[in-house]
Amino acid sequence: MKLRKVTAASAAVLALALSATACGSDDSDDADSGSSGGGTIKVGIKYDQPGLGLKEPDGSFSGFDVDVATYVAKELGYDADKIEFVETKSADRENAIARGDVKFIAATYSINDERKEKVNFAGPYLLAHQDLLVKTDSDITKGTDLNGKKLCSVTGSTSAQNVKEEIAPKAQLKEYGGYSECIAALQSGAVDAVTTDDSILAGFAAQDKYKGQFKLAGLKLSNENYGIGVKKGDTATTDKINAALTKMVSDGAWQEAVDANFGPANYKNEPAPKIGDIVS
Ligand code: GLU
Repeated sequence: MKLRKVTAASAAVLALALSATACGSDDSDDADSGSSGGGTIKVGIKYDQPGLGLKEPDGSFSGFDVDVATYVAKELGYDADKIEFVETKSADRENAIARGDVKFIAATYSINDERKEKVNFAGPYLLAHQDLLVKTDSDITKGTDLNGKKLCSVTGSTSAQNVKEEIAPKAQLKEYGGYSECIAALQSGAVDAVTTDDSILAGFAAQDKYKGQFKLAGLKLSNENYGIGVKKGDTATTDKINAALTKMVSDGAWQEAVDANFGPANYKNEPAPKIGDIVS
């Protein structure tokens, strides 16, 4: 009997504790889609893409997307020290936004109809093109050379989807979680080529540790219009971000970010797109 009473009491305490925890996590969810209490904002970026979104060994962040995100956050009222960057891998982006893990995402995120069903997009703020990265001595020069070859891309990317649907349906496509894993596979010879946006591939090719080892094929296999992902239906934030992007171009900060981040990789980017102007 005694034992049973104790058990019941413990169960009551446990139930209380659990409900308190549930309330607690509800509260932090309510801390509104990525703008958590204490005046900070959560922003999704990539962590492994040099020149675009990279977490440096000292814990700082660099890249064009990071600069765009920092500018946009400032226009939304958050200084750089109020930004909490969160890694959003290609396959996680729609869910991260829907769950409210982040307020917005700037992560080489191409605008397309499928994604527009799940998220709002501001932008575009950059036009890139799908390309191939191969070893310097490779004889792969065009998309169809990939049929029968081992090719790496990333799960949840338009790059992987384009390969399967049109570029090389007969390639042996390996899909990893991030592009840095594909680059390691290319270096080791586990794959013959890596495919994604030229902006991303140029950043890897220019890294000291890979200098002279890889080349871009220089094919414009697709148009990738980078947008900023926002919660579906959040027109107010989308409009504010569009205004921020327009300002970033007109005050020269966009070009500065291009020069600082794409200059070292010798990536020749397209001119700044107009907001709402999607190249199909
Ligand atoms: N821009 C393409 C996409 O959104 C490829 C790069 C990436 O995976 O982030 O899927």
